[in-house]
Order: sequence, then structure tokens, then C-alpha cells
Amino acid sequence: MYRAIVLNKTENAVEATLEHRDEQALPEGDVTVKVAWSTLNYKDGLAITGKAPVVRHYPMVPGVDLSGTVEHSDHPRWRPGDCVILNGWGVGEAHPGGLAEKARLKGDWLVPLPEAFDLRQAMAIGTAGYTAMLCVLALARQGVDPDQGEILVTGAGGGVGGIAVMLLAGRGYRVVASTGRLQEAAYLKGLGAAEVMDRAALSSPGKPLGKPRWAGAVDTVGSHTLANVLASTRYGGSVAACGLAQGMDLPATVAPFILRGVNLLGVDSVYTPMERRLEAWDCLARELEPDRLAAATTEVALAEVIPLAEKILAGQVRGRAVVDVNR
Ligand code: NDP
Repeated sequence: MYRAIVLNKTENAVEATLEHRDEQALPEGDVTVKVAWSTLNYKDGLAITGKAPVVRHYPMVPGVDLSGTVEHSDHPRWRPGDCVILNGWGVGEAHPGGLAEKARLKGDWLVPLPEAFDLRQAMAIGTAGYTAMLCVLALARQGVDPDQGEILVTGAGGGVGGIAVMLLAGRGYRVVASTGRLQEAAYLKGLGAAEVMDRAALSSPGKPLGKPRWAGAVDTVGSHTLANVLASTRYGGSVAACGLAQGMDLPATVAPFILRGVNLLGVDSVYTPMERRLEAWDCLARELEPDRLAAATTEVALAEVIPLAEKILAGQVRGRAVVDVNR
């Protein structure tokens, strides 16, 4: 038997419970992992509360992330005892996920734990941190260098935003952190932000073009915020868009693209090919400062995840929440 959070759909709601499951409930897969840590991402909040159609079928174990030790493997790359990380691939959406003591997965989905991290740190990073790194790499690939000007990070008080601040500051960019929690300014400066701005300046309908300020941006928020960020991006600048915390809409005009040559870079972490994942995890291992990561991390037990799901959607979780699935 193993413990797992299980989601069931009732007539008009999703019900989340902590259950003991028989190992026979594990899905098909060629690697069985004893899960050590998982985490709560925004998407897990949507799945657990049922506020968006993230889960494809029920019952489902949520959790798009996990780290742990291989218990059994029929996959040529993995042996019992190997430490592994799983991010995405539809796990926690269409395939039972990481908010459980045990998981069965495809070996092709797994990433080896980098030497720089322990299993807990890997989940303090999780999909949020790995997505932040994908955003940073997308900006760099587009030629956004630290000497070109300021970089804006929206939703900086959250998981992706907080790690994006750390990574960009570590690379020498001048980072401006946008947040609705100005009381967290000292925390954000501790992560490396040079300046903190009120997200209210970005969240209402704005003009097609504003005063050009940003050389680049990482946007985790979408909607009017992303439209305003695009409108205030400098000539030839780039914006990496990965999130929808304000909304999935994009009420923008083409003006920033056709008059300023602004680039909108879409970032998806779920189906990123393995080569790019390994590159991102390798960069995280070299660049992320453990003290800053620790400052952005809170630890919770498996049962605490269910009430926390509402809180992450309400923007009330600061940084990253790691989940001790064995507690
Ligand atoms: P968090 O909840 O940790 O962070 C989101 C932050 O956005 C909040 O902390 C808050 O920051 C801000 N925010 C919340 N609500 C609003 C609002 N109504 N208007 C403006 N800002 C708001 O989530 P994650 O960091 O886990 O994820 C961030 C986003 O990125 C989510 O939309 C998620 O779905 C997406 N995502 C996408 C991935 C991909 O592959 N493309 C992978 C991972 C995440 P503050 O209080 O500082 O303003």
C-alpha cells in the first residue's frame, strides 16, 4: 500500500482526498519510483480544486513533479537506487502523478538528479524553476544580454517568478520584480531584484504602445499584464511568456511587434524535448544559489497540500512549496 492524494469528480465538483492505495493501482510504465519529494505548482492547484480542466480522466493522482529513487526498472537507462526527477509529460494530468509515495512512469521521461542538488532541492526547483530556466535560456537565445537594459519579471512573489529573479540576477541582469505583495519587497531583493514594482501598474487595460523600458521580460501572468509588458518593451526586445495567473487572454495589439520588432517567446515545459530539459537542469545546477533557493522554499506534508491548493490560486503562496510525501 502507498499513500496518495486522489482526485475524484462528483457531479459538479472535484473532490481531493488522501488515500491508501494498493500497488495494483499503479499505472503502466517501465520504472517504479519511491517518491521522496513533490511540490505544489499553480497547475496542481488548478487540478486539485477543479478550477480548470487540467485533469483528463478520474480518479487521478495530481502532481506534475516528483523526485525519488528508482525501486524497479525495465528501462535500459535506470537501475534500482538511481535518483531521478520527473517534470511534466502529462503526469498529474493524464498519468498518475507525484503527490504520492510511489509512482510508475516511463523511463524516457526521467532526468537524472544533478550532483549539485539533493532530492528536496530538486523539488524546491520543480517545474517552476525548470520553466524559469527555460525562459531565461529563451531570452538569451534571442540575444537579450545583461548590458542591454532592465529585465522585468511578473508574478515575482510566486514560484516561477521567484526563481526567474534569482537566475537573471545571477547572470548579471538588472531585474525589476513586479508583485501584488509589496510587503515582500525585502524578500524579492534578497532573491536578487534590483527594484520592486506594484503589479497594479500593469494589470489594467493599457495603451497599444507605452514608454519603452524593458530589454526583456519573463511573464508568468498573461492577460492585460502581458499586453502592457509587450507595449513597454524596447525596440527589438523579447518577452518569454509562460503563465496565466491573471488570465489566459491576451488583450493586446500588434503594435509592439510591427513597430518595435518585439519578440514574444512562448515557453512550454510539459513537452520540452529531453535535450532542452537536460540543458535547463545543467544550467540550474551551475547557476542557482542554494541560499536563495532555501529562502524561497516552504515545506509541507502530503495532507497539507489539499488546503494549500486554494491558496496558490489566490496568490498566497510565496515562492515554492515542497511536499514531503512521506510525512
Ligand atoms: P504561483 O502561484 O507560485 O505564482 C503566480 C504569481 O502570479 C502569484 O504568486 C502572484 O504573484 C501572481 N498573480 C496571481 N494572481 C494574479 C493576478 N490575478 N494578477 C496578477 N498577478 C497575479 O504559480 P507558479 O509560479 O507555479 O506558476 C506561475 C504561472 O506559470 C501559472 O500561470 C502557471 O500555470 C504557469 N506555468 C507554466 C508553465 C509552462 O510550462 N508554460 C510551467 C509552470 C508554470 P505576486 O503576488 O508577486 O503578484
